[in-house]
Amino acid sequence: MCMNIKHTKSPCCGATIQHWGSRRRCCVRCHKTWRIRRKKRGRKSKRTDERMVIKYLNRQLPPLRVLAQQRNYGRSVLQTRLQRSLKIYVQKNQERWKRALPRSGDLIAVADAIWYRVAGQKHTIYIILLELMDKIRTQKCNFMA
Ligand SMILES: [Zn+2]
Repeated sequence: MCMNIKHTKSPCCGATIQHWGSRRRCCVRCHKTWRIRRKKRGRKSKRTDERMVIKYLNRQLPPLRVLAQQRNYGRSVLQTRLQRSLKIYVQKNQERWKRALPRSGDLIAVADAIWYRVAGQKHTIYIILLELMDKIRTQKCNFMA
């Protein structure tokens, strides 16, 4: 037993408290011990990172509907996880992507989407093209002239 006795009282009996290692305390009267910082209860949440979305985009993961069945999850759970993974992926890469863009001039985004069906499953491809406004204005003028 540890000899270091504190003056605060134990929550169980209001008795003196002894140190029981560095993070554990012991009640002198009933010998109950407890942690000074309570541990979070339940299962630890799995940390999401960018790997899931990369696998998903590289088609190394089955469609979420199939994955949900395989792992006995709700589909919305996987959708949320995928969205979180995408967010992390974007956060990690956005600086690099920004450097690839021209430093000055207004940009215009031309966006379109195509959806198609493969093996009975709907897929959507989003295409976003960034173009300098000045370039487009020049092209337009050339066309009109
Ligand atoms: Zn006690």
